[in-house]
Amino acid sequence: MPILVMKFGGTSVATLDKIKRAAKRVGREVANGYDVIVVVSAMSGETNKLVGYVNDTSPMYDAREYDAVVSSGENVTAGLMALTLQEMDVPARSWQGWQVPLKTNSAHSAARIEEIPTDNILAKFAEGMKVAVVAGFQGISPEGRITTLGRGGSDTTAVAFAAAFGAERCDIYTDVDGVYTTDPRVESKARKMEKVAFEEMLEMASLGAKVLQTRSVELAMRYGVRLRVLSSFEEYNPNAGTLICAEEDIVENKPVSGIASSREEAKMTLVSVADRPGIAAAIFGPLAEAGVNVDMIIQNISEEGRTDMTFSCPVDQVKRAAAALDEAKAKGELNFGELISDTDVAKISLVGIGMRSQSGVAAKMFKVLRDEGINIKVIATSEIKISVLIDRKYTELAVQALHDAFELDKA
Ligand code: ADP
Ligand code: ASP
Ligand code: MG
Repeated sequence: MPILVMKFGGTSVATLDKIKRAAKRVGREVANGYDVIVVVSAMSGETNKLVGYVNDTSPMYDAREYDAVVSSGENVTAGLMALTLQEMDVPARSWQGWQVPLKTNSAHSAARIEEIPTDNILAKFAEGMKVAVVAGFQGISPEGRITTLGRGGSDTTAVAFAAAFGAERCDIYTDVDGVYTTDPRVESKARKMEKVAFEEMLEMASLGAKVLQTRSVELAMRYGVRLRVLSSFEEYNPNAGTLICAEEDIVENKPVSGIASSREEAKMTLVSVADRPGIAAAIFGPLAEAGVNVDMIIQNISEEGRTDMTFSCPVDQVKRAAAALDEAKAKGELNFGELISDTDVAKISLVGIGMRSQSGVAAKMFKVLRDEGINIKVIATSEIKISVLIDRKYTELAVQALHDAFELDKA
């Protein structure tokens, strides 16, 4: 039998009624002749609640116990989904990550999948089971401890299963009916895309479009998984949603395909650092060791042998970054005057494979922001994206103005 992977996110399994609705879709694919692997998230809000419990119990928590707690939301939905399917006379059973076992490395709360043995589940399919319900987001480390794959990680579980089992397709069911030109919650004129290239989706995801976890797109691209995003609430339609596919399959040639925004950014400036060979290494070495994900970097022109260095990182890593830099300063490895943190910024990014061949996108972006009176604090570009940091309060205004200017509402 061909295998299909169907993933249901938190809002799609938020209540018993919604689980029933999702189970009906699964039943339909079984009737269509598939053996189905269903990957489920925790019920909407559940993971946040569990993270809250951990933080309230232990601010400097043991990451292994964090994973033990926050992974548990998925266990509930996996069992409930299996029960619901059984009630519909669809032969189903649940698997927690460790039972598969979905093997990961030991990077707790951001673990990477290393192996998914297929024999266990395939043997059950051979015995007539039709649906394997897998708890998303979780795995087991070489030490035998429960791990999680980072927030939004059930997407990655789903794609990894699709790759391991050679599934015909991986369908990601969520609360929107596909991938839009920008977050439809930020811009109501956002347009649903029929198709989006892997490279573009990868940039959109890593720049803040949380509709797919970045790692899931990476895996789909590497293993050639046919990946589709669609709504669990709309009526069934075999051509629904957005297909994430190879660039060759896309005919559109607009310079910009989508806009991503992220509010969880911060900008940090080291004022008056000695401008000498090795200074960047002295700053970014300790930051990397502390696990700070530095994104954009600017070094100013130096005056009298001293310069300012600015970088951006996720806002929840500011304390860790400051501690690492202060420690390097105390050890005499680094010398700077002041460290200024701006935790009120957002990153707005234009993404499009069309940028490779069309120029003038950056200039137009800067003009649009100028016309709205929005100051740009940091700029970064790559082959298919341009990102700027701006004051967070202008996030919606910037996204909407850029969406209009680049006519993304028009196909
Ligand atoms: P799930 O719980 O199903 O995993 P998520 O909340 O993780 O769902 O992701 C879906 C959300 O992603 C949507 O509700 C939407 O607000 C947001 N989103 C951000 N950018 C985009 C985009 N470009 N296209 C579609 N949705 C987007
Ligand atoms: N429940 C986890 C989260 O909220 C994983 C997921 O939904 O993908 O991050
Ligand atoms: Mg998600």
